[in-house]
Amino acid sequence: MHKLFFSKNSVNLSNVIFPYLIGIFPVLFIFNYNKEELSIHDLVLPVLVTLFSIKILMLLLIKIFKDVKKAGLFLLFLIATFFFYDNIFDFLIPYRDWPPLRHLNQFLAIAIIITFFLSFILIRKSKISLILVKFLNIVGIYLLFFNLIEISIYKIIKRDLFKNNYQVDEYENNVKKPAVFTQNNKGARDIYFIILDGYPSSKVLMEFYHYNNKYFIDMLKSKGFFIAENSRANYSATFLSLASSLNMMYLNHLEKGIENINNFKDRKVPYEMIKNNRLVSNLKTYGYKYVHFKSTWGATDHNPNADIYLSGPNSLLLSKFNTEFNMVILKSTILREWLKKNNYFNLYSDQILFNLDKISDLNGIQGPKFIFAHIMSPHPPYVFDEFGKSPKVVNMNYFGNEWNRKDAFIDQLKFVNKKIILAVNKILINSEIEPIIVIQADHGTCSTCDSSNENTMNNYELSEETLRERLNILNAMYLPEGGSKLLYDEISPVNTFRCIFKFYFDKGFKLLEDKHYYSSYESPYKFLDVTGKGIFE
Ligand SMILES: [Zn+2]
Repeated sequence: MHKLFFSKNSVNLSNVIFPYLIGIFPVLFIFNYNKEELSIHDLVLPVLVTLFSIKILMLLLIKIFKDVKKAGLFLLFLIATFFFYDNIFDFLIPYRDWPPLRHLNQFLAIAIIITFFLSFILIRKSKISLILVKFLNIVGIYLLFFNLIEISIYKIIKRDLFKNNYQVDEYENNVKKPAVFTQNNKGARDIYFIILDGYPSSKVLMEFYHYNNKYFIDMLKSKGFFIAENSRANYSATFLSLASSLNMMYLNHLEKGIENINNFKDRKVPYEMIKNNRLVSNLKTYGYKYVHFKSTWGATDHNPNADIYLSGPNSLLLSKFNTEFNMVILKSTILREWLKKNNYFNLYSDQILFNLDKISDLNGIQGPKFIFAHIMSPHPPYVFDEFGKSPKVVNMNYFGNEWNRKDAFIDQLKFVNKKIILAVNKILINSEIEPIIVIQADHGTCSTCDSSNENTMNNYELSEETLRERLNILNAMYLPEGGSKLLYDEISPVNTFRCIFKFYFDKGFKLLEDKHYYSSYESPYKFLDVTGKGIFE
């Protein structure tokens, strides 16, 4: 790889290497900023694509300028424009009252073309000194160096803090390798685990959103679903909640061994627990196939253990490329406006639509199968109106004030309701053996959270009201042939699959006490036991 991009003497500061260095800088910078949620692998594709594009442009510009230094300098203008367009755009937004800035994109397009033209002429005419090249190279090295150091320190040292905490005794005690069932267990029923992100309980919808969800709930009940009316999430954040429900265990052991618990946000262990979860590994020993739907969110986006990975309507390359990190990079470039107009919203909403439609269309896959779909709605951003069309206002915001756009939230929820009813009907009609279906939220809504601080929810601002809103979730379970008799109104996600295992697979499985923990975005491992709080009277 090295030789492909740099000449043999690439260490020589007289060579024009700054376009490559400064070009990778934004990618590294964004990675560094989000390093708690990302793994080093996420860097490979964007770095390669960036280097390759710069190389191609470099070759092209050398042909035009007939001078490497000039080509490099002009390319630097292109790179800066590409990566900083949206910063300039955002900077100018407050001054839009000034007539020329009213059509900001057009204004910037003209400004950029003129700047390019002038700098092209200027660079072409002047002689570029070697000192400038060396200076820019040093700037490039400096920018990369500090980010690389920070990332390395973080990835090498901080990850160790978690190491010894991954396995807990409780984990092993409960895993009983079944002797009888192996491989093809054809008689077993399919299991659907559908996570609707941020879907609150009916009581929350009534109190905080003034919406009566009775129709949807009654529809599910009429099909034979058990609705746990007082079900509350065990953890308040997605990545903790899913790590817990998919492993059928609490995560409080993770806080041990973390030195600076107030600032520790690394998600590596919970993400790994989501990807290599105990639920799937147990089901595989019973001969289950694992069908995984792409989510577009971090830990559930894809899964290495999936037997079948359903990645949506786009081409394979596009779907694989459409990771959260890559989209964040693209969103910070000049392509943002183009993405807005064409693709970006669609990539996100298309995936949700695909999942909601495809989930009832898996008859072609021989069972028994475990189907996992983490569906990003009704959580913001609001990309659907009640009829599934794109709403008039679309902000691609995932947190903060978006929870307070209550009409938009309810519209999206209504659409999800319709799709879920259709899917459930179809699944029930088409399944030869009655399936198990779990439709569950990871946490509730957040309109009363402190949104002045973007996505932060601080413990000291935690009110009874916020707890009620954030923790009470939709939890609907279809457990045929008497499985529902183990369920109760307060059952929490940690026990969902404990019940299912106990009833259908292994009587020895034990239920845990339903406990509930709150933690903030800034200190996700500082668990606050709120078991007796946030309960509807
Ligand atoms: Zn969530």
